[in-house]
Amino acid sequence: MRDFSVCVFCGARDGANPLYAQDACDLGAALAQAKMRLVYGAGDVGLMGHVARSAQVAGGDTFGVIPVHLMTRELGKRDLSRFIVTENMHERKKVMFMNCDAVVLLPGGAGSLDEFFEVLTWRQLGLHDKPIIAINSAGYWDRLLALLGHVIDEGFAEPSLLGFVEPVSTPADAIARLLAYRAA
Ligand code: AMP
Repeated sequence: MRDFSVCVFCGARDGANPLYAQDACDLGAALAQAKMRLVYGAGDVGLMGHVARSAQVAGGDTFGVIPVHLMTRELGKRDLSRFIVTENMHERKKVMFMNCDAVVLLPGGAGSLDEFFEVLTWRQLGLHDKPIIAINSAGYWDRLLALLGHVIDEGFAEPSLLGFVEPVSTPADAIARLLAYRAA
């Protein structure tokens, strides 16, 4: 089985619906069970903390990348399998992206959206072909998907833009897609 790393973008808060944290926990555990390495922002807060702790409890390989100025605010999680401190946000995103085979988006705020749009626009420009899977917990990303459709409808992107994002309902669905990509 080849090494396979999954970069997870998600909120530094829990959000309003308990399903968000549940899905984060389920994803962390499922990645570990599938022997996929978790790559993420190295925080121990919100959904980030849930994904990482669940992956660790299930014996998974964890790789965290955090900028030095967020070490205190996001409770930099030093007990990960690998823990890297970067000088700034740009470097963090770059290191996370370079070290993954696929990206998974869980519910999150502006930070998660920033990370998502960066990998989406890079994909649109043909700079990479890594899968981008959005876990649509409780329909959280419905409005994002509708916005992308609107961007296409109004002529600001090719219809292929929406094809670069794979929405799924549950972490189990995300893992099924990831297993297929790893096997390909
Ligand atoms: P949020 O989705 O806003 O809760 O943020 C999730 C994660 O994204 C947190 O670790 C933030 O520090 C991170 N983040 C926020 N803005 C950026 C950015 N411009 N580049 C990289 N990471 C970011």
